[in-house]
Amino acid sequence: MTEAGLVHERLADWYAHAARDLPWRRAECSPWGVMVSEVMLQQTPVARVLPRWLEWMDRWPTPAATAAAPAAEILTVWDRLGYPRRALRLQAAAAAMVERHGGEVPTTAEELRDLPGVGEYTAAAVACFAFQRPEVVVDTNIRRVHARVFSGKALPGKTYTAAQRQLAREVMPATFDDDGALACTWNIAAMELGALICTARAPRCASCPVADLCAWRLAGSPPATEEEKTRGQAWAGTDRQVRGAIMAALRQGRPVLQWRLLDQLPLPEATAQQRLRCLESLVADGLAVRGISTDPEEPGETVIALPGLLDSPQDPSHQVLPASPGAQ
Ligand code: SF4
Repeated sequence: MTEAGLVHERLADWYAHAARDLPWRRAECSPWGVMVSEVMLQQTPVARVLPRWLEWMDRWPTPAATAAAPAAEILTVWDRLGYPRRALRLQAAAAAMVERHGGEVPTTAEELRDLPGVGEYTAAAVACFAFQRPEVVVDTNIRRVHARVFSGKALPGKTYTAAQRQLAREVMPATFDDDGALACTWNIAAMELGALICTARAPRCASCPVADLCAWRLAGSPPATEEEKTRGQAWAGTDRQVRGAIMAALRQGRPVLQWRLLDQLPLPEATAQQRLRCLESLVADGLAVRGISTDPEEPGETVIALPGLLDSPQDPSHQVLPASPGAQ
């Protein structure tokens, strides 16, 4: 058996008893459930995804149900998962499935990739985990495991390089004698090893099933070079934090006066310029909309709401009109 073959075998055995029991991994989970999980899990940990996934699947268990949901509800259920454009892209993909695929999740990576907002990773992951197609799946965890086990590097660096893509292809198990079953297990097992054992900051090599085969460990676990390091994403003070605070206020469900929304953000360090810039970017991304209040208490004031709420105001005492472009 080749060394890669031994790594495949060890990880498959380890995964069989060590994998977390997650609802989107169960046999009864629908392809749509797998797809929702894959989109939610990008840049967001399992613990935060789990309750959001359960609520999403309870409300919108099919692409058709998701496509028909009001955007404001989609963004409210997305809650604090971050990068909320993902939620609207997922809804756009669901609408395309209804239009082009009879409301079903397409089965091949090529068809999945043709859906709006679906990238290389999501297409490969859904094809593999929902339809057992032996696609090359590479996320951050898998890149790190590959870098350590096969390349002897502490970390894979920030960018997914052509060399890493080539390595990922080369270390895939052969698919001719089992229809790709081991290849699919390899993808999910390497991902799970990266999440549970071979973590970025503190790999637990003593508990690792491939410790004696790992090139990085065999080389004496050298520290990461500057090139290999990735800077952790800052949060405090960033536009992402300010956008998140604006979205949290809008998820309360009612249009709010723009000046009040921006004044009352619980971020004393954020300048007025940054608050306005972030609001503009949310409007430009279609995550928030502007209107004009016709409430006699505040006539003509600019109001902000989640998409769809200005067209059908839920509170008749707060009538709003669509805003003219650029109104502030
Ligand atoms: S031995 Fe350590 S570094 Fe190598 S794969 Fe296992 S956990 Fe990761």
